[in-house]
Amino acid sequence: MELEPVIGLEIHIQLKTKSKMFCECANIFGDVVPNSATCPICLGYPGTLPVPNKQAVEWTHKLGAALNCELAAKSKFDRKSYFYPDLPKGYQISQYDQPFCGKGELTITVGGKRRTIGITRIHLEEDAAKNTHPKGADYTLVDYNRAGTPLAEMVTEPDLTSPQEAKVFLQELQKIVRALGISDANMEEGQMRCDANISLREKGTTALNPKTEVKNINSFRFVERALQYEIERQQKEHAVGNIPRQATRGFDSEAGTTYEQRTKEEAADYRYFPEPDIPPFVFTEDYFASTIKQVGELPTAKKDRFVSQYGLAEEQALLLAAEHELGHVFEDVVSEIEQLEKEQVAIASSVIPKLVQLTASIILRELRNILTAQNLDHASLKITAENLAELTNLVHIGTVGRTSVAKILNEMQRTGGDPDAIIQNLGLEQVSGEEELEGLVDQVIAENPDVVEKIQSGKGGAIQFLMGQVMAKSKGKANPQVITELLKKKLTTE
Ligand SMILES: [Zn+2]
Repeated sequence: MELEPVIGLEIHIQLKTKSKMFCECANIFGDVVPNSATCPICLGYPGTLPVPNKQAVEWTHKLGAALNCELAAKSKFDRKSYFYPDLPKGYQISQYDQPFCGKGELTITVGGKRRTIGITRIHLEEDAAKNTHPKGADYTLVDYNRAGTPLAEMVTEPDLTSPQEAKVFLQELQKIVRALGISDANMEEGQMRCDANISLREKGTTALNPKTEVKNINSFRFVERALQYEIERQQKEHAVGNIPRQATRGFDSEAGTTYEQRTKEEAADYRYFPEPDIPPFVFTEDYFASTIKQVGELPTAKKDRFVSQYGLAEEQALLLAAEHELGHVFEDVVSEIEQLEKEQVAIASSVIPKLVQLTASIILRELRNILTAQNLDHASLKITAENLAELTNLVHIGTVGRTSVAKILNEMQRTGGDPDAIIQNLGLEQVSGEEELEGLVDQVIAENPDVVEKIQSGKGGAIQFLMGQVMAKSKGKANPQVITELLKKKLTTE
């Protein structure tokens, strides 16, 4: 009997709103002294009343819109009752039968194959406090700074068929929530947490066997490993004729194994009922239309467009699409370049693709280095798109060498000046004239007879050494192409 895995995910995403879900406390769990960002509401004092965070509701809809979910016109919060020290009220305000977002989907590509994964729902709830069990201690520490912070929970259909697909799904989701600006979604920091449901069934059948739920997996790698372990464990049970029973299991990341925790509660155990302190919601068509409009282009669609529209390589397109701000700079510069062509400023339309390619390369290499080194964001960038377009063109036509780009960009960022003036001030014009370079080339050839001999005896690679010498003598200003040609000419005729 051939078995196939059936995997569904439940993903919790911490929304990075300024305040908590139902009170005015700052949403800064982890950044401040434990229990300093609390108030009577999030500590569950009797008589307090929750007020929903508008931003959190809007962001949940934004996430739903990005995943093509049905956005529910009518919705409400419910109480989910359970008793645990991290839940001061004895219940969690969550959503039961009327979540903000209904059915949607997310398409992923795994091993070159596109797969559309169904999304069952996305609802909004408050997070519980954080329990810490110090090793060897007989007590538990509780940090209520996390109590009442907004948490979006997404449930997928059991459409995933391998641990790798589960991992790719989470990576894609992370890119989306980051692009939407609603969460940092760092799994290691618990900003995105995943529970995975898994069962095996005979290939080609549709009935589902009881599933096990692996709780609180906190990295992409662990998702893959935990599921792989569960598949093998369940295969062994099936092999001896057992159907694994429904259970909740934890993942031991050190051992790479899962272990049984407790039998999972059913919905009835939670005694859900409508939250009496928060009236139900009714949303308008106009509100949903403006939410959908705000979503914009998602990272994977943007990557595909960069490849088809600008002819970028997959790798470049992926980086530019994933780093929202760099992608933005790139498109601004390209539009400046296209403008230059329209104004017929020395740019023929046939060189546009080369300039676009060069722009992507300079942004991903030199500009990215400067932004990272100086810890700058897009808003503090003094290099204008127009000036970057000009610099790209100057590199392309050979006025300045690629090796000088970092220096020029640094100066452009420092002064906000244009590249032409900076190149002149710093004396960085590339030397391309054969007559000017010939003297240096002759000098280097005379100084390195052993290398010349190597090249003439067939070790062509050694020419790179001579090139480096000429570049050094010219203080990096010589045009490498011209030097190579001069060296080749001289070494083959001599
Ligand atoms: Zn509070």
